[in-house]
Amino acid sequence: MNDTKAVSAPLPGAQPDRMFPGLTPEQMARIAAHGRTRRVEAGEVLVEAGEESVRFFVVKKGQIDVVRLSGDAQEVVAICREGQFTGELNLLSGRRSLARLCVSEPGELIQLERDQLVDLVQADSELGEILMRAFILRRVELIARDVGDLVLVGSSHSAATLRIREFLSRNGQPYTSVDVERDPGVQELLDRFLVTVDEVPIVICHGRRMLRNPSNRQLADFLGFNDAIDRTRICDLVIVGAGPAGLAAAVYGASEGLEVLMLETNAPGGQAGTSSRIENYLGFPNGITGQDLALRAYTQASKFGARVLIAKTATRLHCERRPYSIEMDDGSQLQARSVPISWKRAYLACLRPETRGQGTSGVWPRRSVRGRTRSHSFIGC
Ligand SMILES: Cc1cc2nc3c(=O)[nH]c(=O)nc-3n(C[C@H](O)[C@H](O)[C@H](O)COP(=O)(O)OP(=O)(O)OC[C@H]3O[C@@H](n4cnc5c(N)ncnc54)[C@H](O)[C@@H]3O)c2cc1C
Repeated sequence: MNDTKAVSAPLPGAQPDRMFPGLTPEQMARIAAHGRTRRVEAGEVLVEAGEESVRFFVVKKGQIDVVRLSGDAQEVVAICREGQFTGELNLLSGRRSLARLCVSEPGELIQLERDQLVDLVQADSELGEILMRAFILRRVELIARDVGDLVLVGSSHSAATLRIREFLSRNGQPYTSVDVERDPGVQELLDRFLVTVDEVPIVICHGRRMLRNPSNRQLADFLGFNDAIDRTRICDLVIVGAGPAGLAAAVYGASEGLEVLMLETNAPGGQAGTSSRIENYLGFPNGITGQDLALRAYTQASKFGARVLIAKTATRLHCERRPYSIEMDDGSQLQARSVPISWKRAYLACLRPETRGQGTSGVWPRRSVRGRTRSHSFIGC
């Protein structure tokens, strides 16, 4: 590989043994029962950076390099050896891969498609726990080390830059930030893409594709956040809003075998996701950051197969016939048998008028832990 700089691997995170655990032969045999085993040769690219619906691999023999691409440069950010496995949260959510996976030593791998992996983590609690913990720790480490191929060029004095930073961070997307006012090398980058100063912030992906001052929706489309989601299927539940209430509904629904899709204007976690520390959430005696809570809840929902459409807002609900139809701000529609609306303001502002007198609907109050009363709505049977 040209221009490749190997770093000490695995990633030097706080808990490397948990981030890159070694599986026993017995555990590997249980995984192999869900997929297939195949031989690989050195140099074979298993997954390309930016590829959708990536596969999951366990190394029985040989070695896989996890390679970060940045323009023409490549960097090995982690190595999977015998008994170790590939993947992080994007595997479950179906988003694009953040890195290239390349065989560096020939051998034998167990390969699972995404659906087979979802079945495995639901069916096998021991393996599910090992995999989920590793995926979460890896994602946290990737974010901490800005591993990815996304560069945001902007100014900390610009509202649009702050909006995009928040959108990327809250959606767990690693990126490298370059400040036009602080970094002297930035002009070269801007010249390369013929960008004028009033067109920043810009977002560059793979060192080639670029957006100028994108909206959150454009950014989500550009990064393929929603690509793996089939919007033509009729869902059992389409949940409006992926705050704590929506995420909880998704976990309960999906864990009962329902097909669940969430719609979220901004990022999973809602208001709670912006909190620096929540002290009164049941089960977390030391408190938990809002971002951490959102990541855990989103991962839990994904584990049961629930999906979330990011940067999509429900604008209208049609209840004239079943299945119900939910219109989104991009003009497209989703179909669902039931529609929990987790945000009172969304229900009152745009969704309620179409529902009057039709369908089975209910609004019930829920008292937040701070004592304020909030209402959640449910349309369906
Ligand atoms: C800074 C901060 C700190 C807090 N700290 C605490 C605390 O320590 N303890 C505590 O108990 N509470 C705390 N809260 C309150 C707590 O966060 C809320 O009670 C909780 O988030 C409510 O959850 P929810 O899911 O009902 O709504 P929200 O969190 O508001 O989530 C609703 C979600 O729906 C999305 N949405 C809305 N309309 C639409 C639409 N039409 N289409 C698609 N998506 C839509 C929104 O983008 C949002 O993500 C805090 C709130 C903030 C802002």
